[in-house]
Amino acid sequence: MKRIAIDMDEVMADFNLKIIDLVNREYQGNVTLDEFNGKKLTQIRPHLNDQVREHIIASNFFRDLPVMKDSQQVIEELSRTYEIFITTAAMEFPSSFTAKYEWLKEHFGFLKDMNFVFCGDKSIIHADYLIDDNSRHFTRFQGQGLLFTSPHNIYETGCVRVNNWLEVRDYFLG
Ligand SMILES: [Mg+2]
Repeated sequence: MKRIAIDMDEVMADFNLKIIDLVNREYQGNVTLDEFNGKKLTQIRPHLNDQVREHIIASNFFRDLPVMKDSQQVIEELSRTYEIFITTAAMEFPSSFTAKYEWLKEHFGFLKDMNFVFCGDKSIIHADYLIDDNSRHFTRFQGQGLLFTSPHNIYETGCVRVNNWLEVRDYFLG
């Protein structure tokens, strides 16, 4: 079986949606999704970076992120013909481990615990494909990187791009 590694945030879990809601509700930030085009959160409302970071490092921040549309169904389908590993750069927020694990069990209960990889540098990942919204992870990756479209990466070129989970299904299952 060929092996597909899949990132969590902004690929399986809608990190931006929760951040926008948080910034607008708690800090009247008036942020819209369009502002994320080509930008990271830290560039959009820099004066709120410290406060937002406090929320993200809280142990439960990642527990209730919305699930990306069609990801459950497509990953379940892919898991019949591919070996699926969930590879999240969890060392950026070590306090997120438990919440991320529980989130995966709740929404992707068909995957085995042993296929969850909480890692630092993703170049250690040995897989045939990596689906990720951060192209920097492809630089030293040996397999084929697939850039999952997220507002921050829409102007990036030079990668094989998938815009949503239905396109992921088409790529792998034709
Ligand atoms: Mg990500």
